Amino acid sequence: MTLLKVEHLSKHYEGRRGMIERLTGTAHTVVRAVNDVSLTVDRGEILGLIGESGCGKSTLGRAILRLHEPTSGRVSFDGTDVTALAPAALKAMRRRMQIIFQDPYASLNPRRTVAQIVGLPLELHGLAEGEEARAIVARIIERVGLKANQLDRYPHQFSGGQRQRIGIARALVSNPEFVVCDEPVSALDVSIQAQIIALLQELKQEFGLTYLFISHDISVIGYLSDRVAVMYLGEIVEMGPVNAVLSQPRHPYTQSLMSAVPELDREGPRRRVRLTGDLPSPLNPPAGCKFHTRCPLAAETCRRLAPVTEQVGPGHSAACHRLDERLNLLAEAGA
Ligand code: SF4
Repeated sequence: MTLLKVEHLSKHYEGRRGMIERLTGTAHTVVRAVNDVSLTVDRGEILGLIGESGCGKSTLGRAILRLHEPTSGRVSFDGTDVTALAPAALKAMRRRMQIIFQDPYASLNPRRTVAQIVGLPLELHGLAEGEEARAIVARIIERVGLKANQLDRYPHQFSGGQRQRIGIARALVSNPEFVVCDEPVSALDVSIQAQIIALLQELKQEFGLTYLFISHDISVIGYLSDRVAVMYLGEIVEMGPVNAVLSQPRHPYTQSLMSAVPELDREGPRRRVRLTGDLPSPLNPPAGCKFHTRCPLAAETCRRLAPVTEQVGPGHSAACHRLDERLNLLAEAGA
């Protein structure tokens, strides 16, 4: 059953006018961080969202929660149009939709104790106060692997992994149904990453959670997710069941991501598909297919026309002009 439905969601920012714009009197530039994204997440599902740094993944997660106000489009959660909610109703909805931030160092107020940090959502949503709130905080703190006698300590007294456990406790203390996990392990040591991933899996089962799991690490996404959405320069270029997308990636960008992960290759070694150039600026995205400036398969049509999203298998879609040719960068690169 669909819990979250995102329809044509965009988030554009007005850029600052540079000297040329000021001298010529031209309009403000626009940063198209997220552009016309549609997706669904079923209740109990983990949708992995993968893409390079700067592709708009985190902005999409925040726009879904209206932490960043969407420019256009619609987000429905359990049948309610989140994008149309007035402030009081949005605040109530936030109890059900939470976020775990990437940086456990920056996301915790250094002047507040663990009890205050984790207890804040209980206070904000009027769920509990005083000793009752402290007891609830103690329970969730112990559940995420810390000790109840650490409630009066401050964030700087914990390691990075422990701080992320505090962030997870803060997200879950109000008993949400949906959590945006925004690169929750990428700031942690590799040895700690596995512990936090295992904890998130356990908590998902225990609390019946649904995750949008954002990561630039396709190994993490492949391990955790039921389905995966691949994002490039603010747009979803491929989406589908994780096994289909990772074993038979159809978009050249997904193929390039896969080529960097030999351990996910079940058919023998692949040579690395190296993309040329950097991710273009969302201030000035390329015309046509936004990937054409880096795509080894780009043709003339790609430079002029944006591809439409097509079904390429059960629940599996991709946006590329050359899907019918079934080109595979991985096979070509390994040949
Ligand atoms: Fe590459 Fe063209 Fe497909 Fe874009 S549409 S991914 S440039 S082949």
